[in-house]
Amino acid sequence: MGRKVVITGGSSGIGFAAARNFAEQGDQVVICGRDEAKLERAVAEVEGLSAAQVDVSDQAQVEEFFERVGPVDVLVANAGVCEQARLDDDDSDDVWRRAMQINVDGVYFCLKAVSKTMPDGGNIITVSSGLGKNARAGYEAYTASKHAVLGLTKCVALELAPRSIRVNAVCPGWVDTPMSQADVVESARRAGVDAEDFRRAAVGSIPLGKMVVPQDVADLIAFLASEKAGAITGQSYNISCGEFFN
Ligand code: NAD
Repeated sequence: MGRKVVITGGSSGIGFAAARNFAEQGDQVVICGRDEAKLERAVAEVEGLSAAQVDVSDQAQVEEFFERVGPVDVLVANAGVCEQARLDDDDSDDVWRRAMQINVDGVYFCLKAVSKTMPDGGNIITVSSGLGKNARAGYEAYTASKHAVLGLTKCVALELAPRSIRVNAVCPGWVDTPMSQADVVESARRAGVDAEDFRRAAVGSIPLGKMVVPQDVADLIAFLASEKAGAITGQSYNISCGEFFN
């Protein structure tokens, strides 16, 4: 019958590719997100998906969802936001709070709730970022939030190891998704250059000369959730076409 898999932010980008992968191997996949129309479109596209409207930054909603869904074999804590704000930008405090509420609190709430009923041998994969280990000016909130995800991942891995629950993180570089497409537009605006020119130059600076695609990250997530990764816990894996080493 397959495993029960929950993927937050599963209606687009990396989360959707991961959901499709698990569904194709016969797992029962529940995707969660805030936008009902996006969730419906995703469910219509892939057989074997179901959806739940959950805002991961709302602890009551997260707890109610995991109580309703019952024991989960695999959680992919993927939902996140990425907004640029330099310290002197007018909206930097709001950007900071949103990053902490969604990228940090949201992952913490999901890990806490799922751990209550996850069976022994379960799996948790968090989605951090290359910026979870590195830094870029203007991405203070996002970078700090993704560093926090890695700290949380390591501690929870130690805490759940006695139950043979493995907890690992993926750290993608630049992945072609709605998030990065919006970020390119914003970066180009800030640099005062054309978005397509900015994108071309940025891709050219990646050692492999291409962006990561969501399927690449989905395949790494599928591996970490498989028995083949049975000796791996508390780790984080870069997937960046050579952009990041640490
Ligand atoms: P995306 O925007 O397609 O996916 C993010 C998903 O999270 C969206 O479906 C969004 O609706 C959902 N989401 C946002 N806030 C939420 C909330 N409060 N509750 C529930 N769902 C919420 O972008 P993506 O690139 O696929 O991002 C997935 C993850 O990958 C994110 O955590 C992101 O930080 C990380 N990541 C992306 C890149 C990249 O270059 N695209 C690089 C490194 C890490």
